[in-house]
Amino acid sequence: MNIILFGPPGAGKGTQAKYLVKKLNGFQISTGDMLRDEIKKDSEVGKQIIQDMNDGKFVDDKIVNNLIKNYIFDPKKKNKLIFDGYPRSLSQAKNLDLLLKDSNQKIDHIFSLNVKKEIIIKRIEKRKNIEKRSDDNLETILKRHETYMETTKPVLDFYSKNINFHEIDGASEIEVITAKIDEIINV
Ligand code: AMP
Repeated sequence: MNIILFGPPGAGKGTQAKYLVKKLNGFQISTGDMLRDEIKKDSEVGKQIIQDMNDGKFVDDKIVNNLIKNYIFDPKKKNKLIFDGYPRSLSQAKNLDLLLKDSNQKIDHIFSLNVKKEIIIKRIEKRKNIEKRSDDNLETILKRHETYMETTKPVLDFYSKNINFHEIDGASEIEVITAKIDEIINV
């Protein structure tokens, strides 16, 4: 089963992705984690993206598309993909479509976690103290939220016609969200 999780930063995508990975024996495709890794390694890609990441801007589609390719074509991960933070633009969504077709796969479920900005700000402030992510200051959070709303909206519109598109109230407790997801995937 392949799943896409949508939601503004702080909506709990990562938490649900980790749950699904465990439950489905799957693989989390978190472009945010991959990009942070590149920065940590101080790789060529890392040097190119650090400014955009810290400004809360989106990283270039080409860089992100390139990072996910290997995961999709890895036979061990086939039909066990849990997308967390990808696709985030129409161009990425179209790229994903092509890669899935070429690898003979499809998306089984798409979940969109909806949460108001005020709740997200509170949650990220809390996470900042625990995880110490460099892109977790208030200004960056607000910028990331704005970027998400602007850029991801067309992607949601693109997927919302799909019968496997499910909107979920992301303000609920983690366990409540998990229970809803469980009910829908029904495995
Ligand atoms: P996340 O951990 O998913 O909230 O992502 C953190 C940051 O990484 C975002 O604010 C973007 O700067 C960058 N990023 C992550 N995923 C993508 C993506 N699919 N496309 C462009 N930028 C991304």
